[in-house]
Amino acid sequence: MNLILFGPPGAGKGTQAEVLINKYKIVQISTGDMLREEVKLGTELGKAAKSIMDKGDLVSDEIIISMIEKRIIKPDCKNGFILDGFPRTLKQAIDLDNILNKLDIHIDKVIEIDVDEDVLLKRITKRALESKISRDDDNSEILKNRILVYKKDTLPVLEYYKNLNKLLSIDGMQNVEDVSKDIQKILT
Ligand code: ADP
Repeated sequence: MNLILFGPPGAGKGTQAEVLINKYKIVQISTGDMLREEVKLGTELGKAAKSIMDKGDLVSDEIIISMIEKRIIKPDCKNGFILDGFPRTLKQAIDLDNILNKLDIHIDKVIEIDVDEDVLLKRITKRALESKISRDDDNSEILKNRILVYKKDTLPVLEYYKNLNKLLSIDGMQNVEDVSKDIQKILT
């Protein structure tokens, strides 16, 4: 089973991905995590990405696509994967389709976790305060930019999947368990 988890920063994509990878024995492919790993390792890519991520802007489509292209052909993806935080622009969505077509892989479902903007701000501010491993981009000014970027660059991706009849929306304002239950219902 190949899924895309879609939603604004703070919607709970990571939390739900965790539940799904355990249940379906599939892998999570989070472009955010992959980029943070590159930053940690101090690679050229990581150095280029860090200043962009710290502003809450998007890393270039070329970098992201080449990362995904390499990741998706790894053997552990055979059993299925969840894309988390990707695609985030229309260009990424179209390039992804081309990559998957060549590999004869298909996305089964695109699940949108829908959450109101004021709740997002509260959640992420809380995450920033409580987190032991602090993320440089979890502060309110940058978060506001991440939400703006989401609306401008990423919402068109939602329309794209809606038009392809692949999009399923979940009410992300519920507690974690109920969001999980709704996702299960969609997948069974
Ligand atoms: P969140 O889930 O909180 O939105 P992520 O962990 O997915 O954040 O991503 C953190 C940052 O990494 C983004 O703000 C952006 O700079 C960069 N990033 C992650 N995924 C992508 C992507 N698909 N395209 C461009 N930039 C990305």
